[in-house]
Amino acid sequence: RECAATIAAVFVEMRAAVERHAEELGRIDAVAADGDHGRGMLKGVTAAARAATAAREFGAGAHSVLVRAADSWEAEAGGTSGALWGAGLRALASALSDRRSPDVAEIVAGIEGFSAAIAGLGRAEVGDKTMVDALVPFVSTFSTTHSWRSAAEVARTSAERTAELIAGTGRAKHLAERGRGTPDAGAVSFALLAETVAEFLE
Ligand code: ADP
Ligand code: MG
Ligand code: MG
Repeated sequence: RECAATIAAVFVEMRAAVERHAEELGRIDAVAADGDHGRGMLKGVTAAARAATAAREFGAGAHSVLVRAADSWEAEAGGTSGALWGAGLRALASALSDRRSPDVAEIVAGIEGFSAAIAGLGRAEVGDKTMVDALVPFVSTFSTTHSWRSAAEVARTSAERTAELIAGTGRAKHLAERGRGTPDAGAVSFALLAETVAEFLE
């Protein structure tokens, strides 16, 4: 129960963070792609926060709250990032139970599942200039340190470093050279959300 309430509250914080940065995320996405990343993320995380809060109020446990959030995010966001976040959050949910709070091994498994689902669906490699470039170092740091703070810092540094890359997949691939010097929008939003979770939990 406690864990389900925390998850719902984290989604509310995530929504607020994306709202503050939506314009900036759109500007970054517009450099080499279609400029809708801020809007898409805001639609997705708003739907997820609403669904998670409602599910929690009806007494759902951690697993079910996350499944509802994942499905709502995917349904409302549209776009590549909506499908990826939906798949990732559903995989995270499947590592958690409705009846008790997860231990650290289950949280690690959930985060590894989140990453594996995104890798499996999007098929991007590290270096392709996508959210995977922030997500993979985040997961390896979290798995070894169990520290949200350390993992979020690594995600931020890694997201900033995507500015040096040229896109190997996704919409930005077609204007890849134009994107040089600008970080990947999905990597930046992933770092923002990782930091938001870290601030809430630590
Ligand atoms: P769309 O590209 O459909 O407009 P968004 O703008 O919301 O969707 O999301 C774009 C982000 O999605 C990119 O910045 C990148 O981080 C991520 N992305 C795109 N393709 C992939 C992929 N194949 N694997 C992982 N992430 C991807
Ligand atoms: Mg876009
Ligand atoms: Mg789009």
